[in-house]
Amino acid sequence: MTNREELRHDWTKEDLLAIYNKPLLQLVYEAAGIHRAWHKADEIQLSTLLSVKTGGCPEDCSYCGQAARYHTDIKVQDLLPKETVLAHAKKAKENGSSRFCMAAAWREVRDNRDFDSIIEMVKGVNKLGLEVCCTLGMLTENQAKRLKEAGLYAYNHNLDTSAEYYEKIISTRKFDNRINTINNVRKAGITVCSGGIIGLGESKEDRISMLLTLANMEKHPESVPINALARVKGTPLQNNPKADIWDMVRMVATARIAMPDTMIRLSAGRMDMTEPEQAWCFMAGANSIFSGERETLLVTPNPGISEDLQMLQNLGLKLL
Ligand code: SF4
Repeated sequence: MTNREELRHDWTKEDLLAIYNKPLLQLVYEAAGIHRAWHKADEIQLSTLLSVKTGGCPEDCSYCGQAARYHTDIKVQDLLPKETVLAHAKKAKENGSSRFCMAAAWREVRDNRDFDSIIEMVKGVNKLGLEVCCTLGMLTENQAKRLKEAGLYAYNHNLDTSAEYYEKIISTRKFDNRINTINNVRKAGITVCSGGIIGLGESKEDRISMLLTLANMEKHPESVPINALARVKGTPLQNNPKADIWDMVRMVATARIAMPDTMIRLSAGRMDMTEPEQAWCFMAGANSIFSGERETLLVTPNPGISEDLQMLQNLGLKLL
């Protein structure tokens, strides 16, 4: 199956559960085969994520250190100037990134000067020849159009978890709000980046339900980040047990099998993974990692760029 027309959009929960539950080595073997049929398996995309506006968010996502209501050590930072953002983007490109994602801790985008500044940032990063991505919260159809016209390539809006478990993690918005923004992004012709987090206390069925929502979209998201919870001190989930590495591998492999053409991104939580553990995720079909400035991914620790480049070299992987 290497033809886009053969992509499936009619998965059932039972289909995906059966894949997820396969004996681990069989699961990884099958996912690796699909990965090789659809992608160059020795290539990894390095993406850089920059927080352009940090903290002070009115939402209550239980995992997030940027929610104003939690007492975390996160330093609140207003929207960065365009010049600063473009300097970061230039540096990211020099370090080997081909995608640059700008994140703002907003509930939703407002039609104000800050959004005008974001539009200018998108234009500037686009000119550098990077895939430009933004994650800014909820978006209207018109705002999505403006971003598209400025050259936005991708918009990140994670489902985070299943529709069923959503209200246990976030009470200030609904799962359907997420779907609505994703639809607005699609309508504007921007590619979709949407994935989730494991380690929130969700069940295996919740993980499958989340993947099912993504895999049965009319068009699969071009990008699916799989995150392991980064347990931020001061958030309600700070004492959750560490996400199990084999659960991560199963999630990556199931996503790879269900959405063969998609970039599967090994995202937050890599600090808690050894190099061999990350290698398992690459074998299971992950083909992108995030690097952050100053060894952070937004507000949580992340391996440094030189460490990542060394890991890729150790594993015989090259940058896309
Ligand atoms: S995840 Fe995003 S929306 Fe939720 S609290 Fe953090 S910054 Fe706000």
